[in-house]
Amino acid sequence: MQRFLELKREFQHLECFCKGTVLRRMVKCGKDYCACRDDPAKRHGPYFEWTYKAKGKTVNVKLTPEAMPVYRAASQEYRKLKLLLNSLERLSQTVLRHQAKMPQSTSRDGS
Ligand SMILES: [Zn+2]
Repeated sequence: MQRFLELKREFQHLECFCKGTVLRRMVKCGKDYCACRDDPAKRHGPYFEWTYKAKGKTVNVKLTPEAMPVYRAASQEYRKLKLLLNSLERLSQTVLRHQAKMPQSTSRDGS
């Protein structure tokens, strides 16, 4: 239970978060005469995009250079939150089994 309380306390240090990832893209402009057409090193950018899934669809949001670090930090924070949540859930399972005096289960379904 001590470990559970410790982990629970970490929620207080959470910053704003968002799911998804921030991608760095080098793009071709599509113009015939531009060097980017044949040379990957001459592509334009980098451009940044925040991409996430909503209702089964991938959503891409273009980010300005100022917005990029904000969203990158927020998506890292989201990963931290998920790890924290997973740890708490595993710990909860153990504690609940004890409280309910359930036998040790051999397998867990779900994710
Ligand atoms: Zn170009």
